Amino acid sequence: MQQRKAKVVWGGAESAAAQEIPAMAMARNGSWPEAEGAPEHSPVPRKKRLALDEKRWNTVVNVMLIAFVMAVPPVIVALRWGRHRAIGLDRGRQGPAAASPPFGRTSNICLSGNVGVINLNYEVKPDKLRLLRAGSGDGSFPYARSPPDKLLGGLLPDGLDERSCRSRYESSMYSRNPARRPSPQLIGKLRRHEELQRRCGPNTDAYSRAVQQLRAGKSVDSPECKYVVSISHRGLGNRILAAASAFLYAVLTDRVLLVDPSNEMDELFCEPFPGTTWLLPRRDFPLASYTNFSIDTAESYGNMLKNKVLNADVPPATATQLPAFVYLHLDHDYGDEDKMFFCDDDQRLLSNVQWLVMRTDMYTVPGLFLVTAFQEELDMLFPERDAVFHFLARYLFHPTNHVWGLVTRYYRAYLARAELRLGVQVRNFDPWTQQSPVVLRQITSCLWKEKLLPEVLDTEKHAMPMMPGGSRTTAVLVTSLRSWYYERIKGLYWDHATATGEDVSVHQPSHEEQQQYGKKSHDDRAWAEMYLLSLCDVLVTSGWSTFGYVAQGLGGMTPWVLHKPTNVTSPPDPPCFRDMSMEPCFHAPHVYDCKLKRGADTGKMLPHVRYCEDVSWGLKLVDAKLYKA
Ligand code: GDP
Repeated sequence: MQQRKAKVVWGGAESAAAQEIPAMAMARNGSWPEAEGAPEHSPVPRKKRLALDEKRWNTVVNVMLIAFVMAVPPVIVALRWGRHRAIGLDRGRQGPAAASPPFGRTSNICLSGNVGVINLNYEVKPDKLRLLRAGSGDGSFPYARSPPDKLLGGLLPDGLDERSCRSRYESSMYSRNPARRPSPQLIGKLRRHEELQRRCGPNTDAYSRAVQQLRAGKSVDSPECKYVVSISHRGLGNRILAAASAFLYAVLTDRVLLVDPSNEMDELFCEPFPGTTWLLPRRDFPLASYTNFSIDTAESYGNMLKNKVLNADVPPATATQLPAFVYLHLDHDYGDEDKMFFCDDDQRLLSNVQWLVMRTDMYTVPGLFLVTAFQEELDMLFPERDAVFHFLARYLFHPTNHVWGLVTRYYRAYLARAELRLGVQVRNFDPWTQQSPVVLRQITSCLWKEKLLPEVLDTEKHAMPMMPGGSRTTAVLVTSLRSWYYERIKGLYWDHATATGEDVSVHQPSHEEQQQYGKKSHDDRAWAEMYLLSLCDVLVTSGWSTFGYVAQGLGGMTPWVLHKPTNVTSPPDPPCFRDMSMEPCFHAPHVYDCKLKRGADTGKMLPHVRYCEDVSWGLKLVDAKLYKA
């Protein structure tokens, strides 16, 4: 770094040069050492000059020493701290107690590669090492606008160990969106269901008996405990929607939910039920190949109907004539017979089967709302029909501590201080959309048309001057498998001033390039990013994507949805739409009237079950008071 040049004036202490002398140097010498650019000829004799030079040199050394002594400790502290943060030394050495508090300091350290300039944004005062923040977003913890509500309005059970699952209790301190309140009926039902899971779940006598019956291939009359096993397959969004759907079905039919632990389902989430596990103990499970069950499995409900093994119109006289288990194939490729699952008579028949194994990659909940036998209870549990998944997700899916660390560190470092957090989820289903200027245009025109982000100026001529107190800041969180869109949006807001003078920062936590299966770090990131999206204030998602559905439901946000792009030369017009509700779309519902036994418009049967906008034949729950078709 170059020294500021001092103007040399021979004489009085009030000289111009003296005014530029740091207080510390002044106090020591009362004069300024000869600076670069001093005159060659001096009126002072040589000997005296040498003595003076020596004195001056000593002064320079002293000043440099003092400056060095002042500057080094904070630099070392910051570098060590930065290194620890980067390579995670703190965690290993000091244990969880030493983990930085959620309101810990953040450091802006600018390291300029070539010259090694270190610019620490601190006021270097040992007594108050204060962070100087650019911008004035209220980044204070807790970030929630309302007082922290650890148990989410009674949705969560009390008494679980807080340290083993920090997200369960800390999430309400991060989420700034107003939370929906669960109904007293839902709270009561959940507490009773937890009791059932404890009484009948793995490691109980009742469970051992039920497993023995399944192994023996026997069914019993009025089994003391009944089960639904949810197979976990496909992407994380699919798996979450599947588990949520199976859980609601379990609640409605008084069955124990057991989740297949495959595909990291045992690593990503905390246990939701106190005192028991929701994970299927695979080792002792008699149906060894259940993860391979498919549309062709002979024991599927559809195949048993087709093959006249079962008939819902003529149920067997006693439950002992029923199979020990039924496989429910509710995957996107399911057939008409499989879809009979959503009919009342078929539910009556299935209610006597002790073990159900369910495979779905969809959010089947809107289908359950069409089953008459469930309607009364569903209406009671969920008076707000547009928040069913919101409650299910916030009840069931709590990131494990490692994933929660990914979420909270990222949130605090990149999002907390902005006044507005905008989440943009870019999911490219077709290869041509992975790096497409047309899709980029679609995204920016959605953001600008809906006024979610300020537009950018062509030139600096009309740029707004910096106002006292700083400008409004918006942080954009982009999630995507690739970095192409993020790079372009970030470049746009760096290259150009915004029309409003707002500052826009753009962030993307990861770009994994492609979807991967069975890789823990990949799933951790996907889960962390879904959760980070859910902590944004406003959300733009990609139509058809279950990844986005999970984020919007968890966060309680009705998103703007980017239409699935179809035309390689021009973006859809309009580029996006405001969704009807925060609920996920059930992508492949049945189209059958179970009472009339003929095809039907299932999206027109109930005011709160409508066709989705992104998948036009899909079904979605809406609040009929808010949404009129
Ligand atoms: P969908 O295919 O969009 O319905 O969402 P899924 O979550 O079911 O499957 C997509 C999978 O691809 C995710 O589970 C991730 O593994 C990966 N993926 C897709 N988009 C992203 C993203 O934005 N970030 C990360 N980290 N992974 C993603």
